[in-house]
Amino acid sequence: MEKVVIIGSGCAGLTAALYTARANLAPLVLTGRQPGGLLTTTTVVENYPGFPEGVDGYELMSRMQKQAERFGARMQFATVEAADLSRQPFALTADGERIETECLIIASGAGHRHLGLESERLLENKGVTYCATCDGALPVFRNQPLVVVGGGDSACEEALYLTRFGSVVYLVHRRDALRASRIMAERALSHPKIKPVWDSVVAEILDVKAGKVTGVRLKNVKTQAETELACAGVFVAIGHVPNTQVFKGQIEMDEAGYILPKGGAATNVPGVFVAGDCADRVYRQAITAAGMGCAAAIEAERYLAARQV
Ligand code: NAP
Repeated sequence: MEKVVIIGSGCAGLTAALYTARANLAPLVLTGRQPGGLLTTTTVVENYPGFPEGVDGYELMSRMQKQAERFGARMQFATVEAADLSRQPFALTADGERIETECLIIASGAGHRHLGLESERLLENKGVTYCATCDGALPVFRNQPLVVVGGGDSACEEALYLTRFGSVVYLVHRRDALRASRIMAERALSHPKIKPVWDSVVAEILDVKAGKVTGVRLKNVKTQAETELACAGVFVAIGHVPNTQVFKGQIEMDEAGYILPKGGAATNVPGVFVAGDCADRVYRQAITAAGMGCAAAIEAERYLAARQV
């Protein structure tokens, strides 16, 4: 049986791994399908303290992993598909393997939110993508008009990145003001290749019959007018949904699926702690996730120590 299992290998999970490893608890980290988490899909991270020139997201996460491993954390490339938190020890099923643990830290992060269109689903990976850094350099997008959907920091970041490849990048947002931080919004809106399309939503992605993206049908939410815009790629950057489905009904969460901490990193289930984007709908930063991972590890350590007395 494990002492501590950490679900997730983003900033929260790997910081929890570092702290529990240094406490000699030899944590087992179940990395999920994307080791290193969402930050590995970012280019330069400019707001993680200690890196005045910025740091590549993938490099930052690789370093965090090495640091945790140096003190005895173990990484297992596996995704949790079932959990039983109703009794001790807690039981998890990860890629078909049963794992029992005295203590659990959930740091499962969040995944990309989808527009919810049938055409989006049918054209995924055929021009529809959720990650510019992963897919932006593909030949199919080179010197072509591209569409980014969203108005937050992610959408601005994706649009700026895509200016390297596309002929023009349309930033389609449902309101007439960006949600993004001022620095990102100013960078995006002042870029000569980025053209904002305000008050508009994507009603359909074209062309399912052709089996590839050829454009979008846009609807202006103020006038209801519909227009078509030709493009070779649609990059959806409209936020995230917490990866907490396997815990539904077993742990307290809000209506959107964010786990509700009960003071600090504790949850309503004693011995289960939570950290990072799966419990944070407010800050959602690399550094806040890391801080929450640290708090969860310290609380897990205290919980285990108290059980031994
Ligand atoms: P976000 O801040 O939640 O923004 C999501 C955007 O998508 C909003 O503009 C929202 O519109 C729009 N949206 C949501 N649902 C939609 C739908 N169904 N159809 C059309 N548009 C929809 O998400 P994010 O940009 O991924 O950022 C998440 C967090 O990470 C934030 O805290 C952000 O600061 C941080 N982040 C920081 C950086 C950086 O500093 N470089 C980079 C990336 C992310 P409304 O505005 O109308 O709600």
